[in-house]
Amino acid sequence: MESLLSDDHAAFFQALSLPSPVSIRINPLKPVSLAEQSRPVPWCKGGWYLRERPKFILDPLWHAGCYYVQEPSSMIIDLVIRELNLTKSPVTALDLCAAPGGKTTIINSALHPESFILANEVNKKRFSILKNNMIRWGYTNVFMSNEDPRIFSSLPPQFDLILVDAPCSGEGLFRKDPQSSRHWSQANIRVCSRRQSRILKDVLPALNPGGTLIYTTCTFNHEENIKVAQNLVDDVGLRSIEIPLIESHGFLPIKSQDTIGYQAYPHLLKGEGLFLAVFQKNESPKRDSLKNLRKTRQTNVPDYINASLSSEIVPNLHASKTNDIFYLAPEHDATYHRLNDRMAVELVKLGQLKKGFVPSHGLAMRAHLFSGSTIAINYDEALQYLYKQPVEELNHQVGWHLVTYKGYGLGLIKGVGRRYNNYYPNSLRIRRDIKRLRQASD
Ligand code: SAM
Repeated sequence: MESLLSDDHAAFFQALSLPSPVSIRINPLKPVSLAEQSRPVPWCKGGWYLRERPKFILDPLWHAGCYYVQEPSSMIIDLVIRELNLTKSPVTALDLCAAPGGKTTIINSALHPESFILANEVNKKRFSILKNNMIRWGYTNVFMSNEDPRIFSSLPPQFDLILVDAPCSGEGLFRKDPQSSRHWSQANIRVCSRRQSRILKDVLPALNPGGTLIYTTCTFNHEENIKVAQNLVDDVGLRSIEIPLIESHGFLPIKSQDTIGYQAYPHLLKGEGLFLAVFQKNESPKRDSLKNLRKTRQTNVPDYINASLSSEIVPNLHASKTNDIFYLAPEHDATYHRLNDRMAVELVKLGQLKKGFVPSHGLAMRAHLFSGSTIAINYDEALQYLYKQPVEELNHQVGWHLVTYKGYGLGLIKGVGRRYNNYYPNSLRIRRDIKRLRQASD
């Protein structure tokens, strides 16, 4: 760091001794308001610094997907997308290394709402975390896959935007997570750098001519970052794109010949160490015409589903072989099927047909698609519900009910006569002792 930063290194090390800022990004679909003391993250719509770190686990709005807890430097992707004018019309986007999903939620918020977003993650365990976060986030235009980047090298060009938030040596997160510095070594930097170049080369065939590639890491050294970026210009022929507004927010431009990248340093802005470089693929005749290869398929779901789901989406519901119910917007039908022919693309399940319609948690998180009965609960009841303790006050009327807190869907219950069953997913329920947590935060 001393050789990278010369005179600035003392300020850098000083910044590392300060606490990391705490920030969140509001979900535009579930727009909650914040405490007055919060300050906006200047480079991101909906990004906020909090004065202190609350116990997010005790906030039902976090469980409802109203916001995502996110490191502020990463939020620069919002500004990049806006500066590149990618917000005006729908695009097809791929987030290649997506788990746990923070940057997927940024591109989802910034892009045109009819855009198609594929969030891919190679690691199985991390894929399930990504899935839970995407279920919670609540959109119907985010699709998921659990594939190695190699699979994208055999696809014809079809993405207008690809984000590669590459696995890296993680130097920029050592302040936030000191444990992670234990794995650092010079040899690991070389491994990471080579891995990043390989991942980028694998995915580039799938980028449309004229399309945008955003490459990010959360590290400082040049062997990953700018050298990898420069290879994309020298060896692959991408064009490096300048985004001057990034500099005005304190990100430092890093140049190497025709290539520019931007580095966030904790002593220059309120955030951790993100590196970002943006590229455009040269225009050339398209190899394959990919639009509208398929016609919209007819829905194959029974009429009684109308009682639980908004009538607008019913014509575009689909039942899988295992009777799971999914919503696929007509504008995404062709892209979904085209990709699904080559890899397993997952949608968020809204429910299942089992002697009637059994709604899923994915539907509770998309409360705008639910048309059944709703029960509003208060803060204490919400925590009990999330803990899967009995909530005395809850209505036991027979049938499915959506439980809401401050108007946002939390989960489902089913009244069965004298009692109700709590359908909050076991894998998501609060397991820690709420009483103790509340005492500690009081
Ligand atoms: N984009 C995520 C976010 O903002 O929440 C963070 C992604 S993290 C920096 C990098 C991801 O790359 C990890 O989820 C990791 O599992 C994945 N990864 C690791 N090795 C990989 C490889 N060889 N190819 C593709 N992805 C890989």
